[in-house]
Amino acid sequence: MDQRRAEPDRGTGGNPGTLHGEFTVTGNRKARCSVSLTERDLVVQKLSSAPVGRSKVALSLRDCVGCRAYRADDNADPAAYFSAYFYPLRRRWMSSGVSRQRVEHCFRLPALQDPVANLEEAERWARAVRERVGRQRYLGDGVSMGELPRPCRMMLLVNPQSGKGLALTLYNNHIQRMLNEAGIQHTLVITERQNHARELVREADLSQWDALVIMSGDGLLHEVINGLLERPDWEEAIQTPLGILPGGSGNAVAASVHHYSGASPVSSEELLVSCGFLLCKGLVSRMDLVSVHLSSSPRLFSFLSLAWGFVADVDVESEKYRHVGAARFTVGTLVRLASLRVYKGRLAYLPATKDHSNEGGPRNNKTLHCNNQASSLSPASLVCRQSRDSPRQNTFHNSCHSNNSLKVRRTESTPSRSATKALAGPSDSLLLPLEQPLPSDWVVVQEEDFVLMLAMYQSHLAEDLFAAPDAILDDGVIHLFYVRAGISRTALLRLFLAMEKGTHLATNCQHLVHTKVRALRLEPYSPKGIITVDGEVVEYGPVQAEVHRGLARLITG
Ligand code: ADP
Ligand code: MG
Repeated sequence: MDQRRAEPDRGTGGNPGTLHGEFTVTGNRKARCSVSLTERDLVVQKLSSAPVGRSKVALSLRDCVGCRAYRADDNADPAAYFSAYFYPLRRRWMSSGVSRQRVEHCFRLPALQDPVANLEEAERWARAVRERVGRQRYLGDGVSMGELPRPCRMMLLVNPQSGKGLALTLYNNHIQRMLNEAGIQHTLVITERQNHARELVREADLSQWDALVIMSGDGLLHEVINGLLERPDWEEAIQTPLGILPGGSGNAVAASVHHYSGASPVSSEELLVSCGFLLCKGLVSRMDLVSVHLSSSPRLFSFLSLAWGFVADVDVESEKYRHVGAARFTVGTLVRLASLRVYKGRLAYLPATKDHSNEGGPRNNKTLHCNNQASSLSPASLVCRQSRDSPRQNTFHNSCHSNNSLKVRRTESTPSRSATKALAGPSDSLLLPLEQPLPSDWVVVQEEDFVLMLAMYQSHLAEDLFAAPDAILDDGVIHLFYVRAGISRTALLRLFLAMEKGTHLATNCQHLVHTKVRALRLEPYSPKGIITVDGEVVEYGPVQAEVHRGLARLITG
């Protein structure tokens, strides 16, 4: 007799007891093991002559993505099986770091002659494992605001051209299996061209999807977020949980999500496995978005960065090194250092104050489907809302701003070009039209000669560029960095090298300034140049931006 029936969870008032069973291990039908399923672990003990203790392992259910039961391939065999899929952190070969590595544990139930009864029993175990994994997931996170429903209907958008052009291969090698193990149904959509994903999500029936997941670099997520915010029902649409799997050369958001999970740094396929694991866990958090106004293009939304000068140039110039993957930024940095230059312009910002960051924003709200606009309850924002419905009569939305904003708004006679073009998306409360002077409480940076300006809202600018170490997903803050002209090549190189570990702020570089802001405006003086938003080139010229706290939702695990 190889197997005992699992003890049912009974009469324990939501605190179910431990299940016990004896099975054989697949691969070696003679090797029997005793299995106990507690609330936190799957404890497996080999029943052999080995000394007790040595052959016992406790597998944490926190590392488990799923469990399923199935029949033997051979129809004549009445046995059934259940397999549990774990991705524990393991020490890497020849390195001090750790990364998630897949381990499958499979158990065979050959006890009864009746194959149906065997399968029922295997299914009972698989269900019990899944239920406990679900409870661990929930207990493990006190701050996340929701989780994906199970079963989950996921659209997975893959850009086959991103990075080294291997995204589809990476999907086949890692992600497809992992999602199946986690019981996550998904529909694979392979993008055919630039803006394909943007158009697709702009038109999609979003009631069909519980999550939109992007497997590419940051560029495809940029398309999806902007597609959602271009919809007439943008307010609902942007609440769709978004997921990211690194398949490109610029995988900043994936690296940030991995970092927020508390894990130590990894890259390439290890980052992919980590993000896949977090995706399977399916916990959803809020993410800040930043609205960006350019002089004549429509307003757009950004989740990562706004860059000018050195960083923007590297981003664009390094496109030609795309085949080396994430290392393209290192190569690009070295090349640009050799021809270091100064960028002239005027930079101004609205500082983030304690009051702002404690604003009754959405952080404390744990409901998944709620209105998430930080300013949604202020009377001024009601004005903003109305104005959205009649864009012609209005105005740029400065009404939530403290400095006699209402007066300014009323006296404005010509509508802002940006505002009239913004057909959808939340109103901006801190910005005046680009052609108007700055509000009086903004700070204007004294210098006009820069080496770079970088506004960031996530921790990582690339897999190995930990640029804003204290940034979190939804702090409602733009981390503004600029480097003043006069810095030596060596000092700049030192900064970028330190950025790999996020220690650049501790280098006491006199040319580097970091400040937390809620809005900013940049007016470059030179007629030509490069500005990037989320690593994508945008219209060059005056630009301004404002953060919208927790506007989107991201699956963070
Ligand atoms: P990477 O990190 O390698 O740059 P991205 O996801 O940023 O990867 O994608 C790069 C660019 O490719 C983006 O501008 C994106 O819009 C565009 N794109 C998306 N799908 C395709 C496709 N099928 N063919 C070509 N370009 C695409
Ligand atoms: Mg990109």
